[in-house]
Amino acid sequence: ILSVEEVLFELKRKVQSKLPPDINVTGLEFEGPELVIYTDDPTKVADDGEIIRNLAKELRKRVVVRPDLKVLADPESAILKIQEVVPKEAVLTNYHFDGETGEVQIEAEKPGLVIGRHGATLREITKLIGWTPKVVRTPPVRSSTIANIKDYLRSVQSERKNILRTVGRKIHRDIASKDQWVRITTLGGCREVGRSCMLLSTPESRIIIDCGINVGSDDSATPYLYVPEVYPLNQIDAVVLTHAHLDHAGLVPMLYKYGYEGPIYCTPPTRDLFVLLQLDYIEIAGREGNRLPYDSGMIREALKHTITLNYGDVTDIAPDTKLTMHNAGHILGSSIAHFHIGDGLYNVAFTGDYKFERTRLFDPAVCNFPRLETLVTEATYGGTNSIQPSRKEAEVNLIKVVKETINRGGKVVIPAFSVGRSQEVMVVLEEAIRKKVIDEVPVCLDGMIYEATAIHTTYPEYLNNDLRDLIFHKGINPFLAECFVQVESPKQRTEIVEGPPCVILATSGMLNGGPVIEYLKRLGPDEKNTLVIVGYQAEGTLGRRIQKGWKEVPLSVDGKTQTVKINLEVTTVDGFSGHSDRQQLMEYLRRIYPKPGRVLTNHGEEGNCLDLASSIYKRYRIPTMAPMNLETIRLI
Ligand code: ZN
Repeated sequence: ILSVEEVLFELKRKVQSKLPPDINVTGLEFEGPELVIYTDDPTKVADDGEIIRNLAKELRKRVVVRPDLKVLADPESAILKIQEVVPKEAVLTNYHFDGETGEVQIEAEKPGLVIGRHGATLREITKLIGWTPKVVRTPPVRSSTIANIKDYLRSVQSERKNILRTVGRKIHRDIASKDQWVRITTLGGCREVGRSCMLLSTPESRIIIDCGINVGSDDSATPYLYVPEVYPLNQIDAVVLTHAHLDHAGLVPMLYKYGYEGPIYCTPPTRDLFVLLQLDYIEIAGREGNRLPYDSGMIREALKHTITLNYGDVTDIAPDTKLTMHNAGHILGSSIAHFHIGDGLYNVAFTGDYKFERTRLFDPAVCNFPRLETLVTEATYGGTNSIQPSRKEAEVNLIKVVKETINRGGKVVIPAFSVGRSQEVMVVLEEAIRKKVIDEVPVCLDGMIYEATAIHTTYPEYLNNDLRDLIFHKGINPFLAECFVQVESPKQRTEIVEGPPCVILATSGMLNGGPVIEYLKRLGPDEKNTLVIVGYQAEGTLGRRIQKGWKEVPLSVDGKTQTVKINLEVTTVDGFSGHSDRQQLMEYLRRIYPKPGRVLTNHGEEGNCLDLASSIYKRYRIPTMAPMNLETIRLI
């Protein structure tokens, strides 16, 4: 077995022999999953894109070249130089210097002008300041969450560099075991919805996929993290997050409280939405006097350890495991996590939550993989009868309810997750108002919806082509339409409740807390109003009870529990779900390539997991299973 130092020494020799002799390698280091080559002349390497591509291919590693710190200009004078080179019409709006990577992110309203002909302006910038420029379009709505995340990461830059080095050295350690096996241990989210958590283990590595909380349950809220397969937590190599929803990511900060020290892998939007949702969650829990599983310090700890990956980046996350994230079509940044284990030994993909239909915001989930032996699929709507209307029908139904309610002088309350359904519904309502299908009523956004929307506008490359085209080429950004009103105070809430007809989108999506409860209290007794349920309501939540037809519900008013009458119309508009319905799940299994040799179902009520598993077996002759929590399944 080679030590990491020996591995690095050997790599340095190889790298130097492949590079032109006039390029001086000043250092070589593993930082997270990347092999970083430091040089005091980054432009020479940047000028020839082939060098890095070939090197990466040859070494089978993600290779990045960074300027040696001593060639970097100080940020203030660098900004002046950038402004000298870039034409004024580009409208530069912000700079973000990342000392961790030697990159400067330049925000401009017209990014093309910063890039220049064939990248000439960019190269000029590098020559002048040493930093590697990356250009991004100025986001149309600024997200305070993202600004805070960037500030925070900057403040812990050197600590983070150490973390990345430690992680990098762990990933690239030599393989010690001769045995070859792969196992999955189910820690939560099997035959149930909530607390999704699985362990993927080999003789070399242990990886946790998702670590969610079941917000609708007190006694089975958290995954089985105390079992010997995962405990002590400092033996875990990596945590991979498919997406930011609490039932998949809600307990990640707690891992750090109990001894986990490793990295979290997810897409950049998942990281930002994760922070937003976690902070919102502990704030609401704190306000309502609920016991908190962790504090904001643990969220910062998680953030400090997060390594972001874009869709399609093949990344070493353990000595024997490569991870690739693919679009899952569920919410912004949501991913299907594909693992390649060993040198062609085994491939397994975890879908997380996915939508196999084109929506207003996203493309359908990816169904092509280089190789695939086992698929772990969600089964939220896995039952034979869990057929949802198409998105088109859903939109027609929603607009019909909104129209009827407004015509009779009522208000429409739509409980929604701040992330996902809200933005879909916003785009539909905006279009209906713009095209005068419904009256020009205000659409009030309460809770973290507006902030989540700002995060969406920061990542246009994660939205589908139509929406990107609408925003950037037709100049219509539906998220910025005048009909949207951000609710910022209790006083404003009162004005809305007492004011003219309107639509209110408020969190939380399953009515277990959040501002939507305020609206329910005050608009619930009046039958002119309508509660429109557009999202999945888990067993045990208030949303599910009202959906079932409860006419009175206990709500806390000024700290005391009071019975509130539910006289308003309650309508469920199906089809907006970010989950695949039964037909889409079966279609996904028909279209998936290559055909997996085994399918496991999870993330669904018991009957749905079992039904989907047996249907897949009957129709496609793929061996299936619907594991319970705490099972270990050997894959090879
Ligand atoms: Zn989800």
